[in-house]
This record gives sequence, structure tokens and C-alpha cells, in this order.
Amino acid sequence: MAAKSTTTIRQVLSFQPHQAAWFAATQALFNQVVAFYFEVIQAHEKLLDLNNQDALTALEMLTHTTQKNPTPVMPLEEIREDLPAVFRRAAINAALGSARSFFSHLQKWRKRKEKAVAKGKTFTERPPVPPRTWNKSVPFYGGQWKERTPSSILLKVWTGTCWSWLKVRLTGRDLPTDAELGSPSLIRRGKQWWFHTPIEKHFARPATIERQITTNRETTICAVDLNLDDHLAVCTIQTVEGTILATKFIGGGQEINGFRKQQLGRIARNRRKTGIIAEGEQDNVDLWHKIKHIDESLAHLVSARIVQFAHHHGATILVFEHLGNLKPERGKYSRRGNSKRAFWMKGRIFKYAKYKAWDQRIITSRVNPRNTSRECARCHSLVARYQEGQPAEGYTEGAPLVLCHQCGMQGHADRNASLVIGQRLVARSQKPLQEKPSTPLPRVERVEKSTGVLLSQEVKRKEEPSSLRARHGGRNEHGTAQGRRRRMGTPPPFIPRQLRLPLE
Ligand SMILES: [Zn+2]
Repeated sequence: MAAKSTTTIRQVLSFQPHQAAWFAATQALFNQVVAFYFEVIQAHEKLLDLNNQDALTALEMLTHTTQKNPTPVMPLEEIREDLPAVFRRAAINAALGSARSFFSHLQKWRKRKEKAVAKGKTFTERPPVPPRTWNKSVPFYGGQWKERTPSSILLKVWTGTCWSWLKVRLTGRDLPTDAELGSPSLIRRGKQWWFHTPIEKHFARPATIERQITTNRETTICAVDLNLDDHLAVCTIQTVEGTILATKFIGGGQEINGFRKQQLGRIARNRRKTGIIAEGEQDNVDLWHKIKHIDESLAHLVSARIVQFAHHHGATILVFEHLGNLKPERGKYSRRGNSKRAFWMKGRIFKYAKYKAWDQRIITSRVNPRNTSRECARCHSLVARYQEGQPAEGYTEGAPLVLCHQCGMQGHADRNASLVIGQRLVARSQKPLQEKPSTPLPRVERVEKSTGVLLSQEVKRKEEPSSLRARHGGRNEHGTAQGRRRRMGTPPPFIPRQLRLPLE
């Protein structure tokens, strides 16, 4: 089966200084037309029940004067007479997109209101408002551009007085030769103008995760533990068999948290001064913008590094844990806001990594996050988590080190968690193949039974995939220490008696 990936090639335009005004004029005209069509749609809400193609035809009937249609209801000529047809259609499509989004928000709002009224509650939420200003980028449909080479293109632009073909130079990434090009857009970034071209790559759909894992023990998995603290991401590469090939720490968490907290602190101070809280409040807009911008670019950066690392090591599967729910931290505004944003960023990193990975034919998945940080990647006992220089016992949330008292595994807490994440995916994918549905419980029982036999075996120090071996009835060395301890009647204080870590 075929699959595709979409990415955007961004190129900078070079042009004569006076031509910048033409780009601006083209964009202004485009937005004028979009605004016009948005109004037409507002006046004919039913149009939105049609699909885009039919809605486009209907909108042209309503607005475009032809011999067959001499007196449209809302003539577009009132704005401009000489719009190229594809320019008009691009504007109609943009208006349709905005209108669909606006009316779906409005509809949800109406439902919430109805519900509240039916229950006799007062409803104070304000309705969504249609856009007051328009600042859309201009897409260039076929007919609005021609003679594209790797370094130049001719664009049909509105100079303010006429339509004119303009040759501009392009610099930046080359277009791939093996991809299909979508309609490029003209994007304004400050004083610069960019040219964004969406590209579609088609390729054979990679085998499903289950298939890759169950049919090839060499299948390589990149597992990622995302954090809100120091290391934003810790990635490990392991095979289905459990051989660990590489680890990568992606840092910068402390810096970003510090920066964000500082900015949020400033916003909080501004609020106290003004007594006004809105996110859109003018004084704070710049600060919010700064924070959003840095979060966004960091999410792109971290996700790109993750995928690069996975690709470099030939991984075909990328796995994260589910984010779970946000548990808001207590404390100052800056602290609460910071943890909320960090949570949001984790979601962003996942999202971006997923599509960047897909572009490399890597499939992304998520596993149950339960206790990934508490489980030993080698023997699945509970680990002690602690700060450097502290005794290796108990469980200190966020501490960097772990020690497994059962098998002796010692290492970095986040790295251990990422290994566990990878193993969970393997265990989950192999589940349907097993004769009996696996349950996490039998491990302990098996240990009891096998205690006598296994007592003399040494606890292995090599890193290996515990769960597989245990499940396939192979050596069961990791149970040994536990069995011994149990026999001696002195379970380590930090391990609850019912030792069950679900592998799902
Ligand atoms: Zn262990």
C-alpha cells in the first residue's frame, strides 16, 4: 500500500527593494477578497453544508459576473474587476476554510449555551467573533507562477495598479526531485518574503509495528523519555531482542524552564500592577509572544534531534509514553504556568517528532506511562531513585539516578525509563502471539517455583530484555535475587510485597 508524507520547503526570495511593495499589495488584495467572500458566506451560511467544490461553484455564481450570470447577488467587481480566476479561487478556498472553522466554533458555543439555559444556569461565555482583520498568506495556484528553476521563478503579482509577471531569485533548500509539489505560498516574515512549497513524497507503506516486531528480531526501536526538567528527552536505541545500541541525552530543559519562568514572572508582576489578566492584554503580548516562540522552536529542535538520532541508528519505530493528564503544580503563578507550558511542549515534541519521523518512514507509537520511571529495565523490579551523594533508596521524584536492588542495575533514571518504554512496546506487540494472554503476576509465582533451581545462578550484569526472556520461558535470573530475599524474609523496605508492574 502506498503512503505519503508532506513537508514544506522554505526558500527566501530576493528581489528589488521597490518590489517588496508589490508583494505587500498582492497580499493586501488577496485578503480583501478573502474578507469579501467570508462575508458572502456569512450571509449564506447554508453554503457550508456543501463540499468545497460545490461551495466554490455556488460562491462564484453569487459573485462572479459572466454572460450567463450577468447580475450576481453580491458582485465581486465592487472590489476589483480584473482578478485572475485562480487568484479568486484561492481566496474563496481560504475564506471557506476560515468560515468552516468559525462556524464550527460558533455551533459548539450555541450548544453549550443551549445546555446551560436548559439547566437553568447563567451562561456568560462570549460567542466567538469572526476575524476582524485578515492577514493570510497568498497561495500561488498554477497559472500564477511559471518557469520555476532551482534558483528562480516567475510570479504573477499585483503591483497596486496592474498584474505583472515578476522574476525573483530563490535561495534555500532545493526542491527534491522525487516529490510532488503543492501550491507554493508567499509568506511575509518581517521585511523578508519567503516562498513555501509543500511537497508530497509517496512511498511504500512500512509494515505495521506489530508485524515488524514479531517477524524480525533485528527491528530497531528508538524509545524516548520526555521530561520537564533538565534533559528534555532521553532516547535509547534497542532491538526487539533487547540489545541496546545507543543512548542520547537532549538537554536544555533547565535553561528553557528558567527562561519561561522568568517571563511568566514578569507577566504576573504586570498583572498585579494593572489588575488586568487577559492573555491578549497589550503589555503582555510581547512577553507571551516570546514564550510561545521559544517553546515552539524548541519543540521543533528537540523533535528534529530525536528523529535524526533514530534515523541515524536505523530505527524504524519511534516510541513515547502517553502524556497522561496534567497535574497542575501548586504554588506561584509563574510555577503553575510553567508546568502547564512544559506539559504542552511535551505534546508538541511528540506531534512534531511523529510527522518528522514519518518523513523518514519511521512509525511512531505510544505506550502506557504507568511506572515507567519506577521499573527496572533489566529485571522489572521497582528501582530506588535518588540524588547523587544520597543513599540509594526510596523514590525521589525527578532524581537523576536509579539503582535496582534486585539485579544490581545502576544508571541514569531517564535512560532506564526510556528503555522500559521501548520494552513495553515490544511486549505489547508480542502479546497476541503468545498462547496464553500474559499477565504480570506469574513472574512472581514463577520465581517462587524456580527459586531452588536458580539460586546458584549469578545475577547477570549485561543489559538484556528481561521481559522477553521471562515470557518465553527462558532463563529467569532476575527473579533469583528476589526469591532469595523473600526466602530470607527480608524484603527491601521500598518494594511493596505485591510486586506487579504491568508490562502493558
Ligand atoms: Zn533490576
